[in-house]
Amino acid sequence: MNTKFNSVEKTSINVNNIKDVVSMKLFDRSFTLAQSAKSCVVCGKQAESFSCERAAIEFKMSAMCEPCQNEVFEPIDG
Ligand SMILES: [Zn+2]
Repeated sequence: MNTKFNSVEKTSINVNNIKDVVSMKLFDRSFTLAQSAKSCVVCGKQAESFSCERAAIEFKMSAMCEPCQNEVFEPIDG
């Protein structure tokens, strides 16, 4: 049986559920919806252009636009 595969699939779904639950609690927005609509989960503004690849990748993980990313994360060279 492919029990191992099933449990991996279930885990990845749960991770997305957790992001949705947390984002709904914190920002009253769905992480999944914000990401599919290319909008920011924190401020709700459009998040389609990024100044660097790192910010674009971060959006895929956090669904935050670049200004919100800059507020949340400390600058590396600051
Ligand atoms: Zn934002």
